[in-house]
Amino acid sequence: MAAAGYQSPWTNDEVRMLRTTARQLIQQEFVPHQARWREQHRPDAEAWTKAGGTGILLTDVPKEYGGGGGTFAHQAVVLEELAHAGVPFGSSIHSLVAHFILAYGSEAQKRTWLPRMARGELVGAIAMSEPAAGSDLQGIKTTARRDGDHYVINGSKTFITNGWLAGILCLAVKTDVRVAGPRGISLLIVEPKDLPGYRVGRPLEKVGLHAQDTCELFFDDVRVPAASLLGPAEGRGFSQIMEKMSYERLAIGVAAVATAEQAVVITTRHVNERTAFGKPLIDFQNTRFKLAECKTEAHIARVFLDNCIERFIAGQLGDITTAMAKYWLTDCECRIVDECVQLHGGYGYLAEYPIARMWTDSRVHRIYAGTNEILKELIASSL
Ligand SMILES: Cc1cc2nc3c(=O)[nH]c(=O)nc-3n(C[C@H](O)[C@H](O)[C@H](O)COP(=O)(O)OP(=O)(O)OC[C@H]3O[C@@H](n4cnc5c(N)ncnc54)[C@H](O)[C@@H]3O)c2cc1C
Repeated sequence: MAAAGYQSPWTNDEVRMLRTTARQLIQQEFVPHQARWREQHRPDAEAWTKAGGTGILLTDVPKEYGGGGGTFAHQAVVLEELAHAGVPFGSSIHSLVAHFILAYGSEAQKRTWLPRMARGELVGAIAMSEPAAGSDLQGIKTTARRDGDHYVINGSKTFITNGWLAGILCLAVKTDVRVAGPRGISLLIVEPKDLPGYRVGRPLEKVGLHAQDTCELFFDDVRVPAASLLGPAEGRGFSQIMEKMSYERLAIGVAAVATAEQAVVITTRHVNERTAFGKPLIDFQNTRFKLAECKTEAHIARVFLDNCIERFIAGQLGDITTAMAKYWLTDCECRIVDECVQLHGGYGYLAEYPIARMWTDSRVHRIYAGTNEILKELIASSL
């Protein structure tokens, strides 16, 4: 919840209605199943079709392709509601796949994939990282060799969000192994299920985000049509990734601020209810000062984020400012959530307490979609 009296300037009645719809779906269909999702390390496949049926997927994709026809504001309220509810659900990665297709796909590719993604029938995953190539994406080893009307894919990917349920992959491959660096990299859009030679490893055991499927993917002579290539020619993949990662970085910023705000709300409630030395924790000056600092920082984060969202919607947010947002907002989130864990005392360390899950779930925000160190390098390149 933002500071009293403050309203994000990008909200309007339509966006508020979508927020209500998203909240109802998440509270009724997602929250009650969290324990089971955490145990099975993935959401139910039906959660995706329910999300699609309710209109909270691809909210910012044009209606002609089955999307909601909205802007990033629509995307943002869905992400905020997921964060408030503490439900990890890979809908922003799913959206990112759609935005790759929207930006670089042919008309036929858009019509083939986007409506099914909007309905939640195809779950999207971004398959870039490999065991030996995370930050250094140019070092990927997965290859796609052209063979007539097909590509033959060999290699493996790791850390792939939505990997278990993925029905459509945005897959980074080397199409030209003779060329070192970015020019040999292309993106393929692949429907991998049932393809001979494709295998999904079991969901990885993470310290947080237990309800999300994060998997290894294996490709052993997997044949896909040459029409899977994204864009007019091979070798464009790296620049496509660089252009579109801003979308995911801003989405992480949205989740970071919503999480920080929610951490302040639930901690304020806790310190009012819990007593020590005969009085509520809020009566200790340290508690009040720490929460005052957290609330102030969360509000500063909110105002910066809102400015970024407005500029993004207007097509004016550059990749340097997006990198600043992802790095600073997630660092800020982790500082606030950690302080809130401390104010919960031992209960902040119990998995059944939402603040503890926020702590483990938020930590990865500083790591994926470009580590905060890599983003500082990017920001520094503008100095
Ligand atoms: C839960 C989770 C979900 C993920 N989801 C996806 C996904 O859906 N798709 C996908 O493709 N990937 C995904 N990833 C992978 C993620 O993007 C990578 O983990 C991340 O990019 C970092 O790469 P790495 O793990 O190989 O770390 P490394 O690249 O080995 O980095 C290790 C450390 O070295 C630092 N470092 C590296 N290079 C530099 C440099 N030049 N200057 C300064 N410091 C540097 C890093 O900042 C980091 O602190 C996910 C990861 C996790 C944990």
